[in-house]
Amino acid sequence: MTDYDLVVLGGGPGGYAAALYAASAGLSVALVEQEKVGGTCLHRGCIPAKALLHAAEVFRTVSHAAEHGVKLPPGVTPEPDWPAANTRKTGIVNQLHRGLSGLLKRRKVAVVNGHGRLTADGSVAVQGQTLRGRATILCTGSVPRSIPGMEVDGVRVVTSDHATNSEADRLPERVAVVGGGVIGAEFASVYTDLDVRTTLLEALEHGVLPIGPDRDVADVLARSLRKRGTTIHAQARVGTLEHTGDGIIVPFDTPKGSEKIEVDQVLVSIGRRPVTEDVGAEEAGVRVDERGFVEVDPTTLQTSRPGVYAIGDCVNTPGLAHVAYAEAVVAVERILGEDPPPVDYAKVPWVVYTHPEVAWAGLTEAEARAAGYDVVVHKHPFAGNGRAMILGETEGMVKIVAQRDGPLLGFHLVGAWASELLHEGYLAVNWEALPDEVGRLIHAHPSLSEAIGETMITFSGRSLHG
Ligand code: NAD
Repeated sequence: MTDYDLVVLGGGPGGYAAALYAASAGLSVALVEQEKVGGTCLHRGCIPAKALLHAAEVFRTVSHAAEHGVKLPPGVTPEPDWPAANTRKTGIVNQLHRGLSGLLKRRKVAVVNGHGRLTADGSVAVQGQTLRGRATILCTGSVPRSIPGMEVDGVRVVTSDHATNSEADRLPERVAVVGGGVIGAEFASVYTDLDVRTTLLEALEHGVLPIGPDRDVADVLARSLRKRGTTIHAQARVGTLEHTGDGIIVPFDTPKGSEKIEVDQVLVSIGRRPVTEDVGAEEAGVRVDERGFVEVDPTTLQTSRPGVYAIGDCVNTPGLAHVAYAEAVVAVERILGEDPPPVDYAKVPWVVYTHPEVAWAGLTEAEARAAGYDVVVHKHPFAGNGRAMILGETEGMVKIVAQRDGPLLGFHLVGAWASELLHEGYLAVNWEALPDEVGRLIHAHPSLSEAIGETMITFSGRSLHG
């Protein structure tokens, strides 16, 4: 038996953040991980996916270089180099993995490699040893969902696990993406920009990001994808995939009728499910709901077993690495006997790293109206923004939802660098700032951020360029 102040089960963003934060507060920590520290986010999620999106962006930029006054030699056309893009991506992942491993070591976190399970007394059993903590944090993450008829083989029928770790020597020529949520939209964007014939099949009414962002903003992304060549089918019911010698037949029904397409690869991106089987939850008295999520008190993140906390994708909160980080801080502070404010899940930052990027915090217009607020909405397109023109990135808009004569309720962006521009709006929404107040603050000229300032000013009833 080895005793620690804290034992963390799962080494993804939730787990390693909890371990690092607890160690920085002076706690002795063991971190149990069966694969590599970094989890889905680092090895088959956020980081590799964004590296591939960046490769697609560079290809798009170089392909349009002539529009910016940069000529390629006659007869030279840029081509995607899929192995090189993947090698670069893997280099970034490995560098971050080394950095994280080193950081855990410097903070004296005992990283134990193996499959850990909670035991009846709340300890963690791993590799024949028992780690006992004054507290335990469960953060075993999630895996991609699949359904009968779409059996994943990792070659022809893949999930984001495989798409982020491609060892193929070239891109598939034709891809069907099943599910138009965050992962589906990001990969549709990558493939489309790398000249892969891409078909997006989404079950719900809207084909791209049907749940989550404000419709106006998601529609800009959908229009852009269509314009660049993505075929999008909404309300699509995908049938059983048929393997042929050359590819896969994907049958699907939409309100317009039945169709079949042949593709080289199918990406199944229909959501993720929590990993809570075989972690000893039942033995330890940790309640898991019927969908497999660990039940927690949303304020303390403590499970039904005192002293055992749960964070990240195994809990039914937004499945985002940065939410797991925030939850790690709350759980560790609780363990330290402090009384931190809970995570405000309704106001977390959301970013979809497509081209153009989509980002938001707070309520959409529809959600604000449904909640009964007297809502005022102002929008400002990127089309008239000088910086956007200079970048050649005029597709985009700022949309702000506020309470009449009151604070911001929601902040929505689509366009270049929305991922980075978001945080001003995120702060404003979380500080319940008044749009007029933010509009008084100066935004540098020329900048994409000016579109945010302009939109805020519009709430005063006056405007500059808007
Ligand atoms: P998702 O829930 O975002 O989207 C799944 C989509 O698939 C939904 O639109 C759903 O209607 C559709 N769908 C479900 N079954 C279907 C079917 N049989 N046929 C057609 N469509 C179907 O899930 P995801 O995109 O797989 O992402 C999973 C998780 O990963 C999410 O929690 C997400 O937050 C997280 N993630 C976040 C980011 C980011 O923040 N940038 C990036 C990638 C993943």
